[in-house]
Amino acid sequence: MQFADRLNNVETSAIRELFKLLGKPGIISFAGGFPDSAMFDVEGIREASQRALSEEAGAALQYGATEGYQPLREQLSAFMATKGAKDVAPEQLIVTTGSQQALDLLGKTLISPGDKVIVEGPTFLATIQCFRLYGAELISAPIDGNGVKTDELERLIAEHKPKFVYLIPTFGNPSGAMLSLERRKKVLELAVKYQTLIVEDDPYGDLYFGEAPPPSLLALSPQVPGSRDLLAHCGSLSKVLSPGLRVGWLIAPAELLAKATMCKQFSDAHTSTFAQATAAQYLKAGRMPGTLAHVRQVYAERARAMGDALRKELGAAAEFVQPQGGLFVWARLTGANGAVADGNVLAKRAIEKGVAFVPGTPFFCANPDHATLRLSFATAGVDKIQEGVARLGQAVAG
Ligand code: PMP
Repeated sequence: MQFADRLNNVETSAIRELFKLLGKPGIISFAGGFPDSAMFDVEGIREASQRALSEEAGAALQYGATEGYQPLREQLSAFMATKGAKDVAPEQLIVTTGSQQALDLLGKTLISPGDKVIVEGPTFLATIQCFRLYGAELISAPIDGNGVKTDELERLIAEHKPKFVYLIPTFGNPSGAMLSLERRKKVLELAVKYQTLIVEDDPYGDLYFGEAPPPSLLALSPQVPGSRDLLAHCGSLSKVLSPGLRVGWLIAPAELLAKATMCKQFSDAHTSTFAQATAAQYLKAGRMPGTLAHVRQVYAERARAMGDALRKELGAAAEFVQPQGGLFVWARLTGANGAVADGNVLAKRAIEKGVAFVPGTPFFCANPDHATLRLSFATAGVDKIQEGVARLGQAVAG
């Protein structure tokens, strides 16, 4: 069959091959990017969906506006205010089918073949694939434990004049890194200085374990005059409430939001009204703060357990920054004392020992660091984490 040329730019992810092996009995998996389904607030969502049906079935089961269900837009505007973005009117956001759709709409509205887009190295794999599908030439900006290195970012912006810069400033996938406050301000200043659009993808910002992270770029933007007009922000209920609801949102300058809405209309007309009405009822019922407190506490415990186990079982063979939120530990193999130093090699050995993770290379759009790994602490309990990391320790020793 003759497919569109744009498909030449992407291939199915190497990770899929690995996932095929996960069915092996007894495997402990640190590979997924999923939240733990045992933590879904089933009761809260049941009540919310029942209220959606008893109070507003006509709207909840009918076609709806492409921009989103108005009561949900109002709830999301209020939710953003609780997170420091106090001035986002309901009309300044559209509801998307997961934040993945927001990324797709940004790709569709902004990227012409050959356009340059700067992303972090490493970054979210599906973003790499999505932007490449639209023909983007991706430029990789290096990161450290404090997120993207802003001096390097400035150099790359000046050199490549990108169409936009895509960042996951808070607990990135896969890096888990948190962009420092100082660097956040710098990113906004760079947006203004070079008149470059910044896309902030923020599905993990609510999943912090200790102190709250610095404000999102969106919440900080009033402090840097002119930056708000150069900022798009993607949010999601997936990691905190339920990815199956497929409720995300996009906040963007009016002109961009209008184009994204137009493209969404041709794509899925609107996000499921039933899911939107359910999400709106859930937020209205005031259950979110309790849910957030619960998931933060459970993930914090698991992150601590994974960090402790890695230090104990892998010792000098791996280095990593202890995550302060999110779902992932991003580790780098050092090869110390003859230990395995390649993430892909280790992934295969680890499967034989009964533990799975994702090697880091697919998360780089260029110059992959072969020594890296992404370990999710989200879905295994503390005992399983300890057992899985012990197996990893055996695998790394060769
Ligand atoms: N952005 C990032 C960084 C992610 O990790 C994910 C989910 N893995 C998404 C966007 C998409 O999430 P959703 O479409 O479920 O909101």
